[in-house]
Amino acid sequence: MKNRKRLRETIAKASPAVLAAASLFTPSPARSQLLPGSMDVHWNEGASDCAASSQPPLQVHSYNSTTFILRENPCATAEAPFMYLLIGSTKALLIDTGDVSDAKKMPLAETVLGLLSRPDHSQLPLLIVHTHGHLDHRLGDSQFAHLSEVQIVGTDLAHVRQYFGFSDWPNGLAQVDLGDRTIDVIPTPGHYPSHVSYYDRQTALFFSGDFFLPGHLIIDDAKADLASANRVADFIRNRPAAYVLGGHIELNSDGEMLPLGSQYHPREHVLQLTKQDLLALPAVVSSFNGFYSTNGIFVLYSQTRILLALAFAFIVFLTAIGILLRRVIRRRKQRLPH
Ligand SMILES: [Zn+2]
Ligand SMILES: [Zn+2]
Repeated sequence: MKNRKRLRETIAKASPAVLAAASLFTPSPARSQLLPGSMDVHWNEGASDCAASSQPPLQVHSYNSTTFILRENPCATAEAPFMYLLIGSTKALLIDTGDVSDAKKMPLAETVLGLLSRPDHSQLPLLIVHTHGHLDHRLGDSQFAHLSEVQIVGTDLAHVRQYFGFSDWPNGLAQVDLGDRTIDVIPTPGHYPSHVSYYDRQTALFFSGDFFLPGHLIIDDAKADLASANRVADFIRNRPAAYVLGGHIELNSDGEMLPLGSQYHPREHVLQLTKQDLLALPAVVSSFNGFYSTNGIFVLYSQTRILLALAFAFIVFLTAIGILLRRVIRRRKQRLPH
C-alpha cells in the first residue's frame, strides 16, 4: 500500500515529458486487448460421390470482421488445404493459395478480392505469402499473377530470406506490417527447407502450415524440425495464443487418421490446436525415430526415407526375381537333351 501511495505521488510530480515517455512502455488497454473471434464452424466434409455433391469448392469462415479462414473442399482437392486472409488498415495478407490453379474450378482470387472490396470500390493492396513451397499451398498463385496491387512472395529459401530480411536463417524473427496489425514471421524448417509460421499479434492466432497440424507431421529434416519446435515453443511461451491453425485436417473426431487421398472427411477433427499442444511439440518431435512413429494424435514420418526404403525394397524384389528366373532357366537347360 505504502509503495502504491509513493508511486502515485511520484507520478503526480512527474513532468508531462516523463509521463509521455512512460506511456510508451505501458500498453494502453485498447492496444493490449486481443481481438476475439469464433471457431464455431462446421467444415464441409466433401462426399463419397463428389459428382453428386453440391458443396461449393471454397468455404469461407469469418473468424472476425478482418480475419477469414478459407478452405478448399475435399471434392475439389483431396488435400483440402486451409488459407488465411488477414486485413489491416493499409494492407491485407493472404497466407497460402491452395491446391487449385484453375479459377473456373476454384474461385480463390474472386473470393479474396470480394472480401477486400471497399465501399469506394478501391482495393486494399494484397500481399501473398506462403507457409512453404509444396504445391498444395501455392498453386492458386497463378490466379493473382496479373492483378495490380498484389505482390506474391516466392517460396524458395532465397526469396523467403530476402523478402523477410532473415540474415541469420533459421534464427531471428521478421515482421509484416499491415497497418495497425503486426504479423510475426518465425522460421520453422523441417517439413520443408523454407517453411515459416506466422503469428498475428492482433488476434493471437498462430498459423503453423504443415509444420504442425492435426494429422501427419511429415518431417524431412528431423534436426531442423526439432530446432523449429523449440524455437516456436520459446516464442509462444510468454505470448497469448488464441488458436494454432495449420494447413490441413487429417484426423477424425476420434483422433484416427482419415484415409490418405480421401475426398470424404466425415466427422473431422477440429482444425484448431492449442498453445499447450505447441509447447508440447518439442517432446513429440524428440520422440521421432527418423522413419515412422506415432505420438498421441500425431503420426510422424519422413517421406524421403520411406520412399528410399520402398525403392530399396523394390530393387531387392527385382533382384530376387532375376536370380529365381536365372535358376529356373538354368535347370530347364540342364534337363534338355544335349
Ligand atoms: Zn507440405
Ligand atoms: Zn500441405
